[in-house]
Amino acid sequence: MKVIYKILLIQFLFLGSLKFGNAQANVSFDSLFVRETLRLDFLLSGSRDTQLVSFGKFVREPFWGGSLVNLIDSFEYGDYQVWVFENASEKVIYSRGFSTLFAEWLTTDEATKLNRTFFESVVMPMPKTECQIVLLKRDRKNVFHQIFQIPFSPSDYFVQKHTPVLYKSEKVYGKSVPEKSLDIVFMPEGYTEKEMKKFKSDCEKFIGYFFKVKPFSDFSEKVNFYMIYAPSVESGTDVPGKMIWMNTKFNSNFYTFDVDRYLTTMDVWEIRDVAASVPYDQIVILVNTAQYGGGGILNNYNIFSADNQYSEQVFTHEFGHGFGALADEYFYDTTVDPASLYDLSVEPWSVNLTTLVNFESKWADLVDKNTPIPTPLSYANKVGAYEGGGYVFNKIYRPVDNCKMRTNAVNEFCPVCNRALTQLLRFYTE
Ligand SMILES: [Zn+2]
Repeated sequence: MKVIYKILLIQFLFLGSLKFGNAQANVSFDSLFVRETLRLDFLLSGSRDTQLVSFGKFVREPFWGGSLVNLIDSFEYGDYQVWVFENASEKVIYSRGFSTLFAEWLTTDEATKLNRTFFESVVMPMPKTECQIVLLKRDRKNVFHQIFQIPFSPSDYFVQKHTPVLYKSEKVYGKSVPEKSLDIVFMPEGYTEKEMKKFKSDCEKFIGYFFKVKPFSDFSEKVNFYMIYAPSVESGTDVPGKMIWMNTKFNSNFYTFDVDRYLTTMDVWEIRDVAASVPYDQIVILVNTAQYGGGGILNNYNIFSADNQYSEQVFTHEFGHGFGALADEYFYDTTVDPASLYDLSVEPWSVNLTTLVNFESKWADLVDKNTPIPTPLSYANKVGAYEGGGYVFNKIYRPVDNCKMRTNAVNEFCPVCNRALTQLLRFYTE
């Protein structure tokens, strides 16, 4: 416990001195890391009452797609954080926020009745020296607590370094070097060998739409898109509610948590194994089906169906989750109790939702001084604080009436989401 306390104490001092954009001015990436990826595979198990983190394996992957300068996560988005704590310097040398499907599942009724296990994974640059890899999770008040710690040594011969199954891959857009660009890898799910041409034309369609949407369009010189041609045995995906089961590469399915349009996959380790063929920051899985749906989990993966009339909008919405850490701005009726999902005495961590407890820390600076807070719908799409968002009807507020994070009917992110995405795009491309 003493060691754990020391790590936490040092991290708080360290993060406390950092502000966005000036991270690590005097620390060189190459003195701390090799330009490869270290992947920690782990399992999250349990129920709402009791949770367990178990070690799976360490994997050494051939590329590092991330920044060489912005190593410390100054945003602190997500339900979890991973820290790489260097033993010699007693400093956190890399950190990143992320979310998991397990954390979402904990909010479901099933998690009060059943234990389940979810496969999870986080990546970091490959340390050159002995480190502690630490996982932290937020509580309802948004305070991070350490939930797992494991030593890592670069000389540990159990770190797996298989020759990856190198599927044919292709850089389909972009000319920037990986460390100064946002690298997005498209992966095919439910595309057979014969459907790889369709996969490519689908990818091109979504790249075209991506650059029509601000702020992505402002960064067109700093984004790379890759494709990996990993075929499935069968076409489509699982639709349990219709008794449809397909043999596909990443074993994706609709009806996640019994929500028909919630399309996800549990095969995170397999996804990472395939993605390792290229340098990447974000994984985007195209599912070869016309059925409406998708999902996006921060710094984990984005997934959506490729052939629906709203697929382009769903792609960028899910990317708002998976890359941008943005919350859903839509909401259901009054049957969802806000207190079941949020602690209403603090601000939610999502940048685009507020409880109005500390609105100054959110987007108060973007609100015109004549706009009342809370904001009546008569102000239409002026930035304000409109009641309803993050799945609940009351007590949680969203920035505008209709943002891309609420509805497919608009093609724009609201100014609050736009600003957050722009900050992240700079972070990844500096
Ligand atoms: Zn928004």
